[in-house]
Amino acid sequence: MSVCPKHILWLDETVTNIKGYHPSGISDQDKCIACGNCATYCVLRESAVKCVHSFAMCGYCELCTGFFNPSPNDLTTAAENVLCPTGAIVRRFVEDPYFEYTIDQNLCIGCGKCVKGCKMFGNGSLYLQVIHDRCLNCNQCSIAAACPSEAWVRVPAARPHLWKKVT
Ligand code: SF4
Ligand code: SF4
Ligand code: SF4
Repeated sequence: MSVCPKHILWLDETVTNIKGYHPSGISDQDKCIACGNCATYCVLRESAVKCVHSFAMCGYCELCTGFFNPSPNDLTTAAENVLCPTGAIVRRFVEDPYFEYTIDQNLCIGCGKCVKGCKMFGNGSLYLQVIHDRCLNCNQCSIAAACPSEAWVRVPAARPHLWKKVT
């Protein structure tokens, strides 16, 4: 990948630091307070942090507090009823009364609004994660430096993603 506007300098996406570590990963999703910094502090124009969904933890709720704003007019996907600013969460009826929520990562900007809603009133199955095929592995991750809750640690290159464990 080239981050140089003249395409003279190239970044080897397979590179790791000398200890074989990727610089950053959100280690403790329980520490994350969904402050919004993950969306805005990444050096990439579109953050390497995205929302992911642990289906095993999800309640498949009809009134999903990660999907709907706190006072929806109706439980429909109309823009005024939903939290996600980019329409990245797809709501699909499964069977009465269950609905499935999937994240379109091409649309997700990592703002964490759904994460906050899910964590406050739901099971916490929506959470933020560094997507390592996007991450540049900066030696000093600017989001990690800006994280108010110390939710970031360096992670081994062989295990770059830290998926939430079912509790
Ligand atoms: S609310 Fe924010 S973090 Fe959640 S899916 Fe939408 S863009 Fe991504
Ligand atoms: S290491 Fe760099 S590219 Fe990766 S999440 Fe942090 S700031 Fe973004
Ligand atoms: S900067 Fe830290 S607290 Fe804020 S959304 Fe990212 S991981 Fe969560």
